Amino acid sequence: MTAYDFDLFVIGGGSAGVRCGRIAATHGARVGIAEERFWGGTCVNVGCVPKKIMVNAAEYGQWAEDAAAFGWTVQKTGFDLSVLAAARDAEVARLNGIYGRLLAGAGCTVFDARATFIDAHTLDVGGRRVTAEKIVVAVGGRAVRPGIPGDELGMLSDDVFNLKQVPRRLTVIGSGYIALEFACVFRGLGAEVDLVYRADLPLRGFDHDIRVALKDALDAQGIRQHCGHHPARLDRQGDHLRLSILGGDAIEADAVLFATGRVPHTHGLHLDAAGVMCTEKGAIEVDEEHRTTAPNIWAIGDVTDKLNLTPMATAVGHALADTLFGKNPRRASYLNVPTAVFTSPPIGTVGMTEADAALLGPVDVYVASFTPMRHTISKRPGRKSLMKLVVCQETQRVLGAHMLGEDSAEIMQGIGIAVAAGLTKQDFDRTIGIHPTAAEEFVTMRTRTREAGIRAAAE
Ligand code: NDP
Repeated sequence: MTAYDFDLFVIGGGSAGVRCGRIAATHGARVGIAEERFWGGTCVNVGCVPKKIMVNAAEYGQWAEDAAAFGWTVQKTGFDLSVLAAARDAEVARLNGIYGRLLAGAGCTVFDARATFIDAHTLDVGGRRVTAEKIVVAVGGRAVRPGIPGDELGMLSDDVFNLKQVPRRLTVIGSGYIALEFACVFRGLGAEVDLVYRADLPLRGFDHDIRVALKDALDAQGIRQHCGHHPARLDRQGDHLRLSILGGDAIEADAVLFATGRVPHTHGLHLDAAGVMCTEKGAIEVDEEHRTTAPNIWAIGDVTDKLNLTPMATAVGHALADTLFGKNPRRASYLNVPTAVFTSPPIGTVGMTEADAALLGPVDVYVASFTPMRHTISKRPGRKSLMKLVVCQETQRVLGAHMLGEDSAEIMQGIGIAVAAGLTKQDFDRTIGIHPTAAEEFVTMRTRTREAGIRAAAE
């Protein structure tokens, strides 16, 4: 008999922790898992799931407007956030229940409590002392304010899901995933939206052509972009807010959303008591196997601040459980992870940007820009799709695929398989398109748009 209460204790019931705990239990481990706030974590409760439902709501508004061009008489008379919120919250509650049942069904001991370290094998779980041979930290991250005067007057992304009505004027700070998705959602739901960001283009780190096309698409839907600007302070003035911008005009708004990034949620865990070290940015330091600086403790998901995406977190959690308890040592790959930004239109991307690939050597770049069939009829402005392939000139391997346009998130899942499998441009060319779709463009881009990279730059 082991001296520990559990073979594995997981701190945090989000995507990473739940998957790791559940799979470890199915491998026969005695698993305890604690969650202090809500089962399913950020993704299910205040992230991907409720956000996507709101994205859908905004899209319905556009479909209703576009329907007239297809012969329908549709009267768009108003939007009731309380109806959407009730449906959204019911779906979140349903998923919460599923998570709880999955863990219980797998035989995990579930604690609705906060867990903190006493030492490397001992935890305080809601006031109860619990020991475990192995511990996995999967506490996720939390949104942060930018630290300007008055920023407590603004919302963070969690607060969006408590709104009782759509703000008439919303100012969003930042131009990452969260800022852009909510800017488009609330514009689609009828708000006037100002978007304030520091760079000259939105979505730093994404492919340049996509960023340029996105900026145009945001303009076309009437989102007022204040690029190259830093927020200075936020003040309440009567019944509204006033955001002062360094070197720019002040913006008046009924609500302000700070989408200025997220940080690992390690505060108060007493990691030092267990010998677990953090990086300068506060993320738990892990090696390639996700082991922390304490030999019996691992960290997975957003708390490691590696690639903060739900499917990445679940993949890492699953691989770790297989490694520790399933006699199947393996790692989830962080390479060629497809991702989507649910803007309007959405962005799908996998692999390298043109700029990153060109640092490694000459690349062939294929770009296609077209109006999808739906919008040749609807005539909705700013709905052009942009597709791009970045191809290694020497091997003809497709290094990156990028798209802004309708259905890009759905399309990119399949393209992601091809890119991760290392397929070549000729493999893409050999594939027969599905007609008429936007996706077929990815297999019909015959003429190289340009050459980039070291050799092209030298010529
Ligand atoms: P990001 O790190 O993507 O973006 C943060 C934004 O805030 C950037 O535009 C950044 O500007 C800006 N910013 C940071 N500090 C300041 C400041 N002091 N003043 C003004 N602007 C500031 O964070 P998000 O919160 O948008 O998203 C967090 C992560 O969550 C993402 O990276 C992603 O991994 C994940 N996520 C994924 C989604 C999906 O898969 N669809 C959806 C939502 C989130 P700058 O560029 O100038 O640094």
